[in-house]
Amino acid sequence: MEVKTILVTGGAGYIGSHTVRLLAKKNYKVIVVDNLVYGHEEAIVDESVKLVKANIADGEAMTALFSENKIDAVLHFAAYAYVGESVKDPAKYYLNNIVAPLSLIEVMRAHNCDKFIFSSTCASYGNPVRLPIDENHPQDPINPYGQSKLMLEKILKDYGTAYNLNYFFLRYFNASGASRDGLIGEDHDPETHLIPLVIEAAKGTRGPVTVFGTDYDTPDGTCIRDYIHVEDLGRAHILALEHLLNNKGSAICNLGTGKGYSVKEVIETVEKVTGLKVPVVYGDRREGDPAVLVSDPSAAKKILGWVAEYQDLSEVVETAWKWHNGKNNGKYSSKSKGVQVA
Ligand code: UDP
Repeated sequence: MEVKTILVTGGAGYIGSHTVRLLAKKNYKVIVVDNLVYGHEEAIVDESVKLVKANIADGEAMTALFSENKIDAVLHFAAYAYVGESVKDPAKYYLNNIVAPLSLIEVMRAHNCDKFIFSSTCASYGNPVRLPIDENHPQDPINPYGQSKLMLEKILKDYGTAYNLNYFFLRYFNASGASRDGLIGEDHDPETHLIPLVIEAAKGTRGPVTVFGTDYDTPDGTCIRDYIHVEDLGRAHILALEHLLNNKGSAICNLGTGKGYSVKEVIETVEKVTGLKVPVVYGDRREGDPAVLVSDPSAAKKILGWVAEYQDLSEVVETAWKWHNGKNNGKYSSKSKGVQVA
C-alpha cells in the first residue's frame, strides 16, 4: 500500500505528541509542524518523525512544506487553549485559532489537500441544556476559546460545501493521563489542569490544590467532568484519519468516556493511586465552569468503532503518576536536539 504523508500541526503538544507516536507505529510518514511556543521537541520521540519549527500562519514555510511533500491529510492540533486567557486577550485566540488555520487551509487548497481533522472541544457546547452531551446539543460557547473552536467548525463546514473539503471534528472532553510507557505526558506551563495539579500537590512539588467551588448542584457539590485518556484520543484521531482517507466523508464525534467524576473523586483517586495525602483548600467557583460536562460518546462508536479503553479514572491517574515519577519527572527540558527551522 502507498505510504500516506500526514501533516500534524501542534504535534509537539500534549495531545498531538501522543497521537504522533501512535501514527508513527502505523505505516504513515509523519511531519510535525510546531512553533514550540507551548510544545516540547522532546515529546517527539520517534526518529522517523520530522519536526519542522514554524508557524502554520507562515505562508511561505507552509507552501514549501506542501511543495516538497505530497501531503494526504492534516491533523490540526495547534491552538491556544487557556480559557481564562482567552477572556482577557480574545485577539490572541481568534488570530491563532482561526486566522492561522485559515491561512494553512489556503495552502492546502492550492495543493489539492482536502482532508482536515480538527481538534474541537466540548467547550463549544457552552452550558449544557441536557446531559449527556451528544453532537446535536446546541453550541453556545461561553468564552472566546470555545467561540474560536466553534467558528472554525462553521467555516470548515462552509468550505466542505463550497470546496469539497473533507473535515472530521473531534470534540474532546477532559484530556488526561500520559503514555502507558511513561515516556511522554502532560506538561503545560502554566499548568491549570486538575489531575497534574493534584498529583503535584500530593508529591509536595506544588502547594495545596484549590477546589473551585463546593456548592454546585452535584452529589458532593463539586464539578463533574468526563476525563478521557490522551492515548484514547490519539487512537480516535487515527480512526478519523482512516475514515477520511477511505473517502467516507465528513463527520463529527464527541470523544469522552461517557462517565463523570467530581473534583473530590479525582482527589480521592489520586490519593488511592499514589498512597499520598493530597493537601486541599476549598475556594470559590472558577468563572465559566459548568457544574457537569459528560459526553455521549455513542457517535464515535458508531462511526469509528471507537470506545475509550480507559474507562476507570484510577487507570488514567496511574499513567499520569508514572509520568510524574519517570525520567522526565512530569517535565521536559527545553534542550534543543536539532530541529529544522523553516
Ligand atoms: N479544578 C479545580 N481546581 C484546580 C483546577 C481545576 O477545582 O486547580 C476543577 C475545575 O473547576 C473543573 C475541573 O477541575 O471543574 C477540571 O478542570 P480542568 O481545568 O482540569 O479542565 P476544564 O474542565 O477546565 O477543561
